[in-house]
Amino acid sequence: MSKITNRTCQPCTACCDGWVSMNINGVEVYPGKPCPHSTGKGCDDYNNRPVDPCDHFNCAWKMQDSPLPEWMKPSNAKVLVVLDKLQWQGMSVDLAVPVGKRIPPRALNWLKQFAEKNARPLIYAEQKIEKGEYSRSQNLVGYGPVEFQQEVSQWVQSGKRLW
Ligand code: SF4
Ligand code: SF4
Repeated sequence: MSKITNRTCQPCTACCDGWVSMNINGVEVYPGKPCPHSTGKGCDDYNNRPVDPCDHFNCAWKMQDSPLPEWMKPSNAKVLVVLDKLQWQGMSVDLAVPVGKRIPPRALNWLKQFAEKNARPLIYAEQKIEKGEYSRSQNLVGYGPVEFQQEVSQWVQSGKRLW
């Protein structure tokens, strides 16, 4: 795998557009409500963006030596991926959140193959829709060993926050 060090975000703004709920300088951002600084092509206040979550956000496509192929850019593949989001029984667990209602089949298949090949359990989300609008909650699915799938179901039922 060749080293990837210089991927650029533009024109992607997937992490700024509310697909992951966050608070930006006191403003709630969630599905259907992008960050007020997102122009749809970038950030209009980039130099003043908060350290957390903006600067700390570790986009798996953008990171140095990313294992994600070029076509998995979030604006194209319609999925945001964070590697090593948590640990389960000594294994790194990756997280995938759709840019839209659900992760398209091509991207989800790639993520599942990556999980299998590298023995990395995956948690992926689907946005819930209520009364025709995105709600602020998501269905979470565990992909990996049966015990992992069961544990993710228990986490969901107990309301555990994963991010
Ligand atoms: S999702 Fe990744 S590629 Fe897209 S704007 Fe955010 S950091 Fe950049
Ligand atoms: S402040 Fe800028 S970098 Fe941070 S979420 Fe908003 S648009 Fe994105």
